[in-house]
Amino acid sequence: MARCEVCGNDYEKSFEVKLAGKSHVFDSFECAVHALAPTCAHCRCKILGHGVEAKGVIYCCAHCAQEKGVTGLKDHA
Ligand SMILES: [Zn+2]
Ligand SMILES: [Zn+2]
Repeated sequence: MARCEVCGNDYEKSFEVKLAGKSHVFDSFECAVHALAPTCAHCRCKILGHGVEAKGVIYCCAHCAQEKGVTGLKDHA
């Protein structure tokens, strides 16, 4: 079975995630999030939802984007 690329755990229920043509193997969503989730440019939290993007910078929510001086953004949700 495949080994998690984050924590190295060799787990029979590991799974593969394809991102931008590269495949990654994880044993848990926690590890997948740790490795793949983008980070909010303002509050540094891991973005698990849709997030918002402005000028190539990604934020967890419109509020964070506004704090960075981005105006006119609305949350997708
Ligand atoms: Zn892991
Ligand atoms: Zn944020």
